Amino acid sequence: GALPSWDDVESLVQAAYERNRTVDDGEVADYIPILGEADPALFGVAVVEVDGRVHDAGDVDRRFSIQSISKAFVYALVCEELGHRPVLERIGVNNTGLPFNSVMAIELNDGHPLNPMVNAGAIATTALVPGDDADAQWAFIVEGLSRFAGRTLELDDVVYRSEAATNQRNRAIAGLLESYGRLDRDPLETVDLYTKQCALLVSAHDLAVMGATLADGGLNPVTGVQVVSPEVCRDTLAVLAASGLYERSGEWLFEIGLPGKSGVAGGIVTVSPGKAGIGTYSPRLDSAGNSVRGQRATAHLARSLGLNIFAST
Ligand code: GLN
Repeated sequence: GALPSWDDVESLVQAAYERNRTVDDGEVADYIPILGEADPALFGVAVVEVDGRVHDAGDVDRRFSIQSISKAFVYALVCEELGHRPVLERIGVNNTGLPFNSVMAIELNDGHPLNPMVNAGAIATTALVPGDDADAQWAFIVEGLSRFAGRTLELDDVVYRSEAATNQRNRAIAGLLESYGRLDRDPLETVDLYTKQCALLVSAHDLAVMGATLADGGLNPVTGVQVVSPEVCRDTLAVLAASGLYERSGEWLFEIGLPGKSGVAGGIVTVSPGKAGIGTYSPRLDSAGNSVRGQRATAHLARSLGLNIFAST
């Protein structure tokens, strides 16, 4: 395999978990009211190698809403459908340096969404999902993300409704995009679809499988299904490296040296190209909205497994 022996990886995953399980920095997100009820003690670390080998520590099967991590996979599916150039013309690939729900990121760039990993670009990406109507688009998203996970993902209706009742800001972002002529679909329907994609339930284990699929050129190591092309994985990982952890993306790349994507429910997916996917779950977040223990456990693994893509030795 591309990683050290199974026993070595197994003990390093255990160590990444044990060393960080008592860290209690950060706060559970509560701007989506229901997320505030998450148990801050939960913590899971999962690694899935591209040959399908699995390493689990802690609460790896506990389900939580995927939130912004969905942005990475919907983007990949849309790139697969429309191609590199047409998507790039609609949605840029530069970091905004601003929080994920920033309206300034739209205003400062003539309404052109700067990247698909912040809400403006993610909502614009969701609008590009093929389908005659919102139901067909929803089916495309659920089926596509399920192919990445290797099992049928389900919607958390309570999370969906909690966010739908409080997402005035995302509705405003969609309205702004529309006013700049950068949204071809109905803005409220698009936000609704985006809110639903964020409420799909995953586990840390699922995230590791999804990450391993991106790590292996789009081939799901568990199901053997080719979900997207190697070119789409390459492009998606470049975008994650630049913007996967919002305004902390530079620090993440500096410390960890791998493309990753966080979500406000506490998940992080990290991809070691050609080697493995890493999935972590822990609800306490830093001020940018990234899981604190997840970042630390991933940093531990990246160092101990030698995964930093910029390191020559
Ligand atoms: N659904 C959340 C939102 O749009 C996702 C944000 C996140 O995970 N950073 O605000």
